[in-house]
Amino acid sequence: MKPVAQTPSPPDAAARKAVKPVICYPTATLPQPDMAMVAAARDTLEMTQKIIVPPRDARTFTVPAGHFFKIVSVEGPQVGDLNLWARQDLSEKFYSGKTRALHGTHLGVGDRLWSGFPYLRPMATITYDTLDWYGFDAYGGGVHDVIGTRCDPYTGRLLGGTDYHHCCHSNLTRALAAETGLPLLEAEHHVHDVLNVFMCTGFTKDTHQYFMKASPVRPGDFLEFFAEIDLLGALSTCPGGDCSTEHSSDAAACYPLEIQIFTPDPETLSGWSSPKPSAYSRGHGL
Ligand SMILES: [Zn+2]
Repeated sequence: MKPVAQTPSPPDAAARKAVKPVICYPTATLPQPDMAMVAAARDTLEMTQKIIVPPRDARTFTVPAGHFFKIVSVEGPQVGDLNLWARQDLSEKFYSGKTRALHGTHLGVGDRLWSGFPYLRPMATITYDTLDWYGFDAYGGGVHDVIGTRCDPYTGRLLGGTDYHHCCHSNLTRALAAETGLPLLEAEHHVHDVLNVFMCTGFTKDTHQYFMKASPVRPGDFLEFFAEIDLLGALSTCPGGDCSTEHSSDAAACYPLEIQIFTPDPETLSGWSSPKPSAYSRGHGL
């Protein structure tokens, strides 16, 4: 939020403001997923695993490269906070900021979830979204954002002065510690900014502050991904429930989410190979 200006406008203020914006990262040269291949593979999917994430908690899951996973709404409207790591290397993790810079504030079918430096490769591609009809509403809100971070006990303490232990950050930390055997405080360092699955968010038009509103998700809705590399995932059922009022407390109605893992007929992926890490030399000018 910008304060009231202390500096008078220069004579050419209007001209400076009228300069047209350009897209920071034009995507014309961005490698695109083969959605025809994805469609053929989707026709052959067989479910291999189902994991229920209880309310106000998190669970981990693994997906081999070339397999699919879905996050499914069950029982009631619920938002999920998703973390992804390379299965064998926690240092390669989802980079929500660069994903936002490449694909925009909210993700949809064909968008990728990119890993951080020095890897910068697609970890997963979104292949189906039953909420794709939502688009952007009159408030500028949309679903599946990469602008929020994840609710956490530190901001809760900063703003409310109390400790709440079932924020998404803590849920993801506990789940990752249980999966890896890492001490809790070590696991915490690997938890990162999320894809806010099913969450409906935007920026207010006047102050450009981050807002949330009741998620339009209903039981049966799902967001589906193709795993581009071997993945370890963790999904938290946000204590905000549908995020219509507040989070970081036990006030909201919360529901489970279901993670489903699928294997396709490998024949349908015959021309596909897992993306390699960035080819940048890493010389950094020396
Ligand atoms: Zn949360």
